[in-house]
Amino acid sequence: MTARTGAEFLDRLSTTRTHVEIQGETLKGGIPDHPAFKNVVRTYAALFDRQHDPEYRNVLTYPSPTTGDPVATSFLIPRTREDLAKRAQAFKLTADASFGMLGRTGDYLNSALMALASARTWFAQTDENFADNITRYYEQVREQDLLCTHTLIPPQANRAQPGGQQAGGALMAHIVREDDNGIVVRGARMLATIGPFADELLVFPSTVLRGTPEDKPYSFAFAIPTDTSGLRFIAREPFDYGRTHFDHPLGSRFDESDAVVVFDDVHVPYERCFTLGDPELCNGFYTATDALYHMTHQVVARTTAKTEFILGLTTLLTDAIGIGQFQHVQADLAEIITTLETLRALNRAAEADASANAYDVMTPAWAPLNAARNLYPRLYQRFPEILRKLGASGLMATPTEADVTGPAAADIDQYLQAATLAGRDRVRLFRLVWDACASAFASRQALYEYYFFGDPVRMATAYQASYDKAPYADRVRAFLTEPD
Ligand SMILES: Cc1cc2nc3c(=O)[nH]c(=O)nc-3n(C[C@H](O)[C@H](O)[C@H](O)COP(=O)(O)OP(=O)(O)OC[C@H]3O[C@@H](n4cnc5c(N)ncnc54)[C@H](O)[C@@H]3O)c2cc1C
Repeated sequence: MTARTGAEFLDRLSTTRTHVEIQGETLKGGIPDHPAFKNVVRTYAALFDRQHDPEYRNVLTYPSPTTGDPVATSFLIPRTREDLAKRAQAFKLTADASFGMLGRTGDYLNSALMALASARTWFAQTDENFADNITRYYEQVREQDLLCTHTLIPPQANRAQPGGQQAGGALMAHIVREDDNGIVVRGARMLATIGPFADELLVFPSTVLRGTPEDKPYSFAFAIPTDTSGLRFIAREPFDYGRTHFDHPLGSRFDESDAVVVFDDVHVPYERCFTLGDPELCNGFYTATDALYHMTHQVVARTTAKTEFILGLTTLLTDAIGIGQFQHVQADLAEIITTLETLRALNRAAEADASANAYDVMTPAWAPLNAARNLYPRLYQRFPEILRKLGASGLMATPTEADVTGPAAADIDQYLQAATLAGRDRVRLFRLVWDACASAFASRQALYEYYFFGDPVRMATAYQASYDKAPYADRVRAFLTEPD
């Protein structure tokens, strides 16, 4: 097998029978042509096609270690700095194609699988079979170029209780029984972005488990096809309303869909399980394997691409209506530039200080990546705020494509002209600004950046707790005790 084309991705999707509930409709197939998904799956298909584009294929693919055929670079196990640099280049190329708006491009979880499979000895701690399973699974996803999503957190019924105690333990996905060849899972997980059109669902550990016997049924990591019997996705309302690219430039291309995941006695064969019944191992799943570090490496490339987009968009906006002369506008632009350069510097530091980990994987330094991971959820929130402030009433003077070509065309050209743009072009620009800062799609993007990698509040708690502050406290203590 080899890196897939867009047509191969869509062909496979047209044969899957994933159970999706959406706006009162039950789907068991037909995803590629459903109005909620047909645009975004074509955007994903174009990403698969890029792997075959002579302009990009040398960066986006490398020879498979088993067949020699080209497979996606995000599966490349980096042994050298050059490998790591190639991975980063591929991340950025992929992110640029959607200006970082797609959070679940394959490279995100391919990076996790790469790191997990490299850490096979960690999986072998409880059972050698788990090590074989993760290796085999990584190779299967790599060779078939499957698109994965993941689901981690328990339903949000009552956060005052551990997930395993909500509604007597019935809500959070758990193992109800084992049979000769696998486990049976019942309950739910809160969300899986792209669940309705992914090929595979990774059901991985998330919230910290207490390591008590009661947590055992909630302690697992496995992967299943999204059309596994008993698995259901309840999708949110789509923000792609079937409008033109002119009217909804981002929503009509990049609305990824998020869905609640229900496990109705889903059978998972043992060969698809990577750890079972061990809360301690689950708690170390991402950090002990360094999967978190390689995922964050991808995330920083994506958020850099997104920040570049915001900077370009803000520049066009300020030029268009002649507000670049005002100091507070310049300060806003400077803030975006500062964020961009901070991300670039942190990523560069992470790559410059990379070292081989315990599994001989060249791994970016964690301190700078962790700083980026803690900064961006908050810094991103300023971008839509800045765009709304600078766009002002222009964000509502946004007639549709039908208007700019219809009876109002002359008025629009006359009265909606901008300092640098004709009326129609100014409307096109402002509709893009609106879709980046004020539409439902824009709100979801802001929510995504804030939460997709975990709750920033709890991340900050863990961050400061794990940071070695003692040398700095000692230095200040020494100063305080200097003789007067
Ligand atoms: C757009 C989007 C896409 C997502 N996609 C995915 C996906 O594909 N797969 C996936 O697994 N997850 C996904 N997530 C979920 C994401 O992982 C969670 O949003 C995140 O971990 C926070 O958990 P929560 O949403 O349950 O918030 P909650 O834990 O319910 O928190 C709600 C509020 O209560 C506060 N709070 C709750 N508990 C505590 C506590 N113990 N200490 C301090 N404060 C607390 C939080 O700070 C927050 O303000 C997605 C989320 C979003 C918004």
